[in-house]
Amino acid sequence: MIKSILDKKDWGKEDLVRLLECNEQERQLLFAKAAEVKERHLGKVVYFRGLVEFSNHCAKDCDYCGIRKGNTHVERYNVSDEDILRAARFAWENHYGSMVLQSGELRSPAFTERIDGLLKAVKQIGTPEDRLGITLSVGEQDMETYLRWHQSGAHRYLLRIEASNPELYAKLHPNDELHSYERRIQALQDLQKAGYQTGTGVMIGLPHQTTSDLADDLLFMRGFDIDMVGMGPYIAHKDTPMAQAGHSLLPIKERFTLSLKMIAILRIMMKDINIAAATAMQAIDPIGREKAVKAGANVIMPNITPGKYRDQYNLYENKPCTDEEAEDCLGCLEARMKMVDHKIGFGQWGDSRHYYERTKQTNL
Ligand code: SAH
Ligand code: SF4
Repeated sequence: MIKSILDKKDWGKEDLVRLLECNEQERQLLFAKAAEVKERHLGKVVYFRGLVEFSNHCAKDCDYCGIRKGNTHVERYNVSDEDILRAARFAWENHYGSMVLQSGELRSPAFTERIDGLLKAVKQIGTPEDRLGITLSVGEQDMETYLRWHQSGAHRYLLRIEASNPELYAKLHPNDELHSYERRIQALQDLQKAGYQTGTGVMIGLPHQTTSDLADDLLFMRGFDIDMVGMGPYIAHKDTPMAQAGHSLLPIKERFTLSLKMIAILRIMMKDINIAAATAMQAIDPIGREKAVKAGANVIMPNITPGKYRDQYNLYENKPCTDEEAEDCLGCLEARMKMVDHKIGFGQWGDSRHYYERTKQTNL
């Protein structure tokens, strides 16, 4: 039954729901097929993006997020430009190839200016032939800002849709202009128009979320023709309205398995996109990211945020590696990737092939 679905050329919604609900034996077939598709199209290579969570200041109040504006228990921080650039140099010296700058969402001329300056400074590191690739993940901004940052050197942008069903989205966010679903969609469209490799994603195992919603999320990603994906399990944070509402959730292990299935299914649906093994996977299972790589992911985002800030970027509880420095993570990651028989694409950007297909450029 599952085998006949796996053999199909194209999947409809019912197939996707069936795959998402497959049992333990069946899911081994799904993961094997995803691994085969990845190897054929992208090889057994994982690309690194050194992740700097440079600030937890946020103007928004997403109901699920530990650093939401309304959480007064968070000590707010801003990594200095100097420390961000030090982290960037670390990424460059260790041949990571790329970095991600992530933070809470602020929209202001000062914020725009700061990011712009940082991008230009990161682009000065190294020689012109081996500059770091840069992904931004700093929330919804206007078109002018996206264009400016793109010109200053950011070429990838991550903005999760969180939940593609507008009704579910509304249940996860305050009902106001700042948290509007339409604005989020608009922002994704703007990013594509501005020329970014555009990434999105969802949280998996949210309250009220059904497998039908998740199937629609997959169709949304394909319909939007996205270039990259970062998706992973929802993990409650006690100081949030969502955790406090006391919803019953899928057991954490099931949220994890469902996330692996989402990755595997999407890999088969969109063969040449980049799929990140989310840090939240590792928060649940010590070898969660390795399992994600085996199920079709090809990007890992080692945390290179200076250790002293890590405790304060708690989007969810039990975030891994918050007591480590970047150096600790590198050796351990190399060994971990070997364990699953993957090479690391050291010194390469590892851009989304899908982007080049989509935009019909040939300079990969
Ligand atoms: N402020 C930016 C980027 C930082 S938040 C933005 O929102 O786009 C990055 C991601 O963390 C969010 O997109 C969300 O999907 C994820 N996240 C937040 N709270 C989470 C939680 N409790 N469990 C799992 N993921 C969470
Ligand atoms: Fe802010 Fe992003 Fe958290 Fe929402 S998910 S509260 S925008 S950091």
